Amino acid sequence: MAKQDYYETLGVSRDVDDKALKSAFRKLAMQYHPDRNPDNTDAESKFKEINEAYEVLKDAEKRAAYDRYGHAAFEQGGPGGGHGGFGGGGFSGFGDIFEEMFGDMMGGGRGQSSGRGSDLRYNMEISLEDAFNGKKAQIEVPTSVHCGSCDGSGSKGGKPPSMCPSCHGRGKVRAQQGFFTIERTCPTCHGAGSVISDPCDNCGGTGRERKSKTLSVSVPAGVEDGTRIRLSGEGEAGLRGAPSGDLYIFLSIAPHRIFQREGANIFCRVPIPMTKAALGGEIEVPTVDGGRARIKVPEGTQSGNQFRLRGKGMSVMRTESRGDMFVEVAVETPVKLTKEQKEILKQFEAAGGGNVENHSPESQGFFSKVKDFFEDLTD
Ligand SMILES: [Zn+2]
Ligand SMILES: [Zn+2]
Repeated sequence: MAKQDYYETLGVSRDVDDKALKSAFRKLAMQYHPDRNPDNTDAESKFKEINEAYEVLKDAEKRAAYDRYGHAAFEQGGPGGGHGGFGGGGFSGFGDIFEEMFGDMMGGGRGQSSGRGSDLRYNMEISLEDAFNGKKAQIEVPTSVHCGSCDGSGSKGGKPPSMCPSCHGRGKVRAQQGFFTIERTCPTCHGAGSVISDPCDNCGGTGRERKSKTLSVSVPAGVEDGTRIRLSGEGEAGLRGAPSGDLYIFLSIAPHRIFQREGANIFCRVPIPMTKAALGGEIEVPTVDGGRARIKVPEGTQSGNQFRLRGKGMSVMRTESRGDMFVEVAVETPVKLTKEQKEILKQFEAAGGGNVENHSPESQGFFSKVKDFFEDLTD
């Protein structure tokens, strides 16, 4: 499904200012807040969309990236391959696009965040059962950490860097271009304002080194497909001691063999024999918690009839409650009948069992519609 435009999601124009953006977001967030819409999965997903859109548009850099690249700006690097033992686990740097756009172009324009480490993305696929129970997982993330030899300073022996002679510590230099004076990132120190005269051997002066980090992730019970978990400061280390980026874990839930999930509810289709549907009886179905539930199937059950098992659905995040489970039965026509079985069915038919008017409610409905159809034609 195509993702809705973030501006449309918030109902604002593309040139909206920060104030109007914030008030549009507040209004919608109040309207769709889960506390105000209990058990309304539509409102819940709308609420999530609103939050996601605002998260991007309120941030000038992310908004600029979105304006330029659309949703693709945040979908850098797809699934990468197995890491840390997760089937669909993948890993990629998704801050790169920002680095590319703003790193050089704006230089010191990122203010204090200049040199901040890239945000990282980790794709994690979990099973529906894990989404139901919640999960504590260890992930292995290849990343950059502060260099141990120089303690992240980039300078040999941790010696403090000296002031950049080109920009005198400002990180920017002025250049005359026609009538204009243009301020740009200092080419000597790349905006840092300081230079390292004696770079650390281990990191070559960057203050960081490649390393794998093992992190614990706690996936809450009831989590939805597409949820992002942010581990603040667990992204790549910043340049020369600058703050680290964040790590975003993008969760996806693998399709299940038996169950389909819709918000808090679970759907499941179960075949039942024709005889049980006709005579009534009991069936046993698996539940997402790993248990079993029994359903009383009444006499004359039709294919497509649904049964509701209250409280047997998904767990709901941050609550003790659970959604419901819906079981749809599919009545099965028996195959490979023996001669004797066929004989019995023929007798059944001869005894009036195949009489549509008495015994086949769906056929009755259908044939009366067919009758109306032909009558309308002859009118
Ligand atoms: Zn170092
Ligand atoms: Zn400089």
